[in-house]
Amino acid sequence: MSSSTDYIIVGQGLAGTLLAHKLIEEKKRVLIINTNLPAMSSKVAAGIINPVAVKRCNKSWNIDLFLPYAIQYYKQLEQKLSSKFLKISSIYRLFSSLENRKTWEIKCSNTNISKYVNYIYLDSQYSFLKDSLGGASILPAGRLDVEKFLNISKEYLCEKATYLSDQFDFSCLNLDNNIYKSISFNKIIFCEGFRMLDNPYFNYLPLRPTKGEMLVVNIPTLSSIDKILSKDIWMIQLKPFHFLVGATYQHQDFDDKPTEYGVAYLKSKLNNMLSIEYKIINVLVGVRPTTKDRKPLIGLHKTYKNLAIFNGFGSKGVVQGPFLTANFVNFLTKGQKLMEDVDIQRFRV
Ligand SMILES: Cc1cc2nc3c(=O)[nH]c(=O)nc-3n(C[C@H](O)[C@H](O)[C@H](O)COP(=O)(O)OP(=O)(O)OC[C@H]3O[C@@H](n4cnc5c(N)ncnc54)[C@H](O)[C@@H]3O)c2cc1C
Repeated sequence: MSSSTDYIIVGQGLAGTLLAHKLIEEKKRVLIINTNLPAMSSKVAAGIINPVAVKRCNKSWNIDLFLPYAIQYYKQLEQKLSSKFLKISSIYRLFSSLENRKTWEIKCSNTNISKYVNYIYLDSQYSFLKDSLGGASILPAGRLDVEKFLNISKEYLCEKATYLSDQFDFSCLNLDNNIYKSISFNKIIFCEGFRMLDNPYFNYLPLRPTKGEMLVVNIPTLSSIDKILSKDIWMIQLKPFHFLVGATYQHQDFDDKPTEYGVAYLKSKLNNMLSIEYKIINVLVGVRPTTKDRKPLIGLHKTYKNLAIFNGFGSKGVVQGPFLTANFVNFLTKGQKLMEDVDIQRFRV
């Protein structure tokens, strides 16, 4: 096969998918090379969109910019793909102590976090929860069904772009002539998630992956909840009587194997949130592409300007992805400025 393309995107997780959509919207020719390697992050991601860092009731980084953009863009993609994968709902954050409740009350009366905290409850709201101290209602928030979004996008990308189900082979890359195998390209953009660790051109960047485990549980006495629940861990509904509970954060063993520690941790936190019986059905595991400074890794290679990276979305890919994709595509196609905080130039020596 001999052909040419504007962009080769390596990896069709959330990052590669958003990037492919945007480049196609800009009428660019795109070739996606992806294989689903074990422990990919997007395949298991809960997809929660939460504007508030719940531990101390602070606004998430750049949330005023990212959140409205993300909601509007996913809605636009739902229309384009004739599918539904975004659900807006509130998060009910249970207070863990009186001190914790006080922190939230003070923050909400003194800061503009109140934009996202639309009510503070001082007593229990649900009989199935250990929420005697009440909780806060966070809105707008919600959830992207990431797996559904990726699957439906793959069908679209197979039609509107070229899609190779293959592992990218660095030994077939001829950088002097801009040729990969027999395909000539303008730029290659790597969206490999935590597998960036194996990328010889970008593994100098400070990725610090985090393994995450989640439980799928069956609760026979609870058919549905219309909110996302949060108390150290979070719980969301998957289907009637079935819920996803997560997550752990471990900086070792980057594989898709559940651990005794992870399951025990999630069980103890769930026991601290629920006052009813549940049964564990499954354990899901993935590795997040987290970074040392908690900011994404985006931009051109320091020497090879035909290589770029779009990665490092950590545990916030769903809300940060759409705005940063647009910013990056405008940088690539219109020469606009890349957001400094995410530009990999910050690691130049
Ligand atoms: C347990 C857990 C819960 C999470 N919950 C949330 C949440 O609630 N909200 C949120 O916003 N985020 C959440 N995340 C994080 C979210 O998953 C990430 O931010 C995002 O999905 C990262 O996407 P990515 O495309 O960068 O990486 P990935 O999803 O890992 O995708 C990379 C893709 O590239 C492929 N690939 C890699 N190397 C090659 C190669 N050489 N050749 C071909 N293909 C290759 C991989 O196989 C994979 O398909 C969670 C993550 C985990 C693990």
